[in-house]
Amino acid sequence: MKILFVVSELLPFSKTGGLADVASALPAALAGLGHEVKVVTPAYASVRAAKPEPLGVPLSLSFPAGTFHSELLSVSHGPNHQVLFLAQDALYDRPGIYGEGPWPYADNALRYAFLSVGALSAAQALGFAPDIVHLNDWQTGLAALALLRGYGDTPLGRARSVFTLHNLAYQGWFPKEQMDVLGLPWELFTPDGLEFYDQLNFLKAGVVWADALTTVSPTDARDIQTPEGGEGLHGLLRERAGALTGILNGIETTTWNPATDVHLPARFHAGDLAGKAECRRALLSRFGLPAEAEGPLFVCISRMAAQKGMDLVLEVMPGLLSRSNARLVVLGSGDPELETAFRVLASRFPGQVGLQLGYDESLSHLVEAGGDFFLMPSRFEPCGLNQMYSLAYGCVPVVRSVGGLSDTVVDLSQPDGTGIRFDAFSAPAFERAVERAMALHADSTALEAVRRRGMVRDFSWGRSARAYEALYRRLVGTT
Ligand code: ADP
Repeated sequence: MKILFVVSELLPFSKTGGLADVASALPAALAGLGHEVKVVTPAYASVRAAKPEPLGVPLSLSFPAGTFHSELLSVSHGPNHQVLFLAQDALYDRPGIYGEGPWPYADNALRYAFLSVGALSAAQALGFAPDIVHLNDWQTGLAALALLRGYGDTPLGRARSVFTLHNLAYQGWFPKEQMDVLGLPWELFTPDGLEFYDQLNFLKAGVVWADALTTVSPTDARDIQTPEGGEGLHGLLRERAGALTGILNGIETTTWNPATDVHLPARFHAGDLAGKAECRRALLSRFGLPAEAEGPLFVCISRMAAQKGMDLVLEVMPGLLSRSNARLVVLGSGDPELETAFRVLASRFPGQVGLQLGYDESLSHLVEAGGDFFLMPSRFEPCGLNQMYSLAYGCVPVVRSVGGLSDTVVDLSQPDGTGIRFDAFSAPAFERAVERAMALHADSTALEAVRRRGMVRDFSWGRSARAYEALYRRLVGTT
C-alpha cells in the first residue's frame, strides 16, 4: 500500500512529546513491512541542521489571507520511506514548534491549516496517489475535510483517511473568526461539524470526517467515550464508536534497548543485570547523590503538566523521603509553577533528591537504566512511552490504572506482574503504591523477578505496525 503520513513533529528533527517518537517509528515499521510511506511535516528552523535536499517541486496554496509559496525538502529514510518537509519560512522558520515558552504562536490556525492542505498538495504534485492518508492530532484534522471536499475527482480522492488521536487534551481551538481567515465555509460551523462551544475546533474535523479513528491504546479508546475522559467530545466519539479502535504504540527498540544503548556507561539484559547496578551508580553521581546509596531509587521523566500527576509526586514523596532512605531523581520541564515546586523539594532534601529541569534525551536513557522504580501517576495517559521504556530497562513502573498504562503494566499481585498499579487519583492511593514499591525493594529476589518479566515483554513497533496494516487493509477493502 501507499501511505501518506502527516504529522506536526518528527524525531529527530522536532519534538515536544511522544507524538514525535511515533512519527519516526511507525512509518519506518510500515516501510519495513513493504509499504511505500511518505511522511509530511513542517520545515521548522530545527530541521535545517539535517540539510534536507530541495526537490524542486514548488507549491502555492491560497487562503483568504494570501497566497503562500512553499517548496518541498526531503530526506530519505530507506528505499520506501521518505520524509518531506513542507518549507514556508514565514510560517515555520521560527525557534519554537507550536510557540515559545508558554505562548502559542498567534497564527497557529493558519500554520496547521497550511500543513493539512499542503501535505495533500505535496502528494498530488509528486504524483503520489496514496491508498491511506494517515493523520495525527489536531494539527492535521483539516486534512480529513480537505480530502473529502477538495480532491473528489483526483487520484488522491480515492484515498481513505485514518485520524489518530494521540492526546485529546489538545484540540486546536481557535476564535471562530479564523473560519474566514482560512476560508472555511460557515455551513460547517455546527455542533456536528467544526464548532465547539462557539469556537473553531481543528480536532473535530478529523473526528467527524476521517474514515477511521484510532487512539493509541485499547483502554484509551474506551476512556475517551466517557464524560470523564472525552474532553467534551465523548458524545461525538460515541457516535463514531464503530470507526474507532485502539492500537497500542510501540517503542523504538533500536534506540531503547539496554543491551545496546549507546547512552549508558554499562549495558545489561534480562539474563544479566550487573550493568544496571553500574548505571545506577552513574545516575546517582550525575545528580550529586551518594553513589552507593542503598534505598530504593525512584525516578521520573516527564513533561511538567497537570496530565502527568506530578502534583501527586510533590504531595507524597516528602513524607516518604523523610521517613526512609529512598532517593528521587527527576528530569522534566514545563509548567513553571511545578518546576519551582520541584526546586523547593530538591533544596529541602539535599542528598536524597536530584533534579534536572530541561529536556535531555541522552540523560533520559540513563535515568531509565539507573532507576529502580519509575513514577507515572498520570491523571490520564492515552498510551505513554515512558512506562514501556521503564519495563524494557528493568525500572519497575508505578503507574495509575488509566489509558495505555493499564494496557502495558501488569500489577504484581498477578503471577505475570511487571509493575505496581493504583486506581484513584489521590495522594493516599499513590502513597500505598509507593509503599508497595518500598516493600518490593526490600525483597531482592522478588524485585529481580518482576524486573526480568518486564524486560522480556515485546513492545516493539513491529507489533503495532501490523495492527495498523490490518486496519488499512480493512479500509481499502483488501481483506
Ligand atoms: P507525552 O507524549 O504525553 O509527553 P509519553 O510518555 O508518551 O508522554 O512520551 C514522552 C516522551 O518524551 C518520552 O520519550 C520521554 O522519555 C520524553 N521526555 C519527556 N520529558 C523529557 C525530558 N525532560 N527529557 C528527556 N526526555 C523527556
